[in-house]
Amino acid sequence: MKYTKEDQLRKKIVELKAKKKEPTMAQLKKIVQRKVNEYVRLRDKKLPCISCGRRGVAIDAGHYVAQGSSGLLRYELDNLNGQCQKCNRFLHGNLIEYRIGLVKRIGILQVEWLEKHRHDIKKWTREELNEILSDTKELIRVINLSK
Ligand SMILES: [Zn+2]
Repeated sequence: MKYTKEDQLRKKIVELKAKKKEPTMAQLKKIVQRKVNEYVRLRDKKLPCISCGRRGVAIDAGHYVAQGSSGLLRYELDNLNGQCQKCNRFLHGNLIEYRIGLVKRIGILQVEWLEKHRHDIKKWTREELNEILSDTKELIRVINLSK
């Protein structure tokens, strides 16, 4: 069957509309990171800063292994912890103290697992990112229910 010119045009418009709605992969990665960070801040709201142990200060979601745009660990919840803004933003993550705090929180084996995979590259698919996004939204919903 041959498409008429009008059919082709219609098809093109549908494609364009669909494209417009879908974020680019780069945008989607940022959207997912923002959501995961939001969850970590909620999860760790009552915990001290993972690095310096200060309490009652505004916290960021700080990565232990820094996030590369395609790093395997960028959304890994054990790799993200509530961290005061001073440690996260001005002390480059205060990583030596971060490690000590992290071992206390998740155990040496899990910390070593993170370190072993620190350079792993992950080619995220749109489906995987959307799955993390919906899982994270669900985690946020549940944590807000239990408040
Ligand atoms: Zn701190």
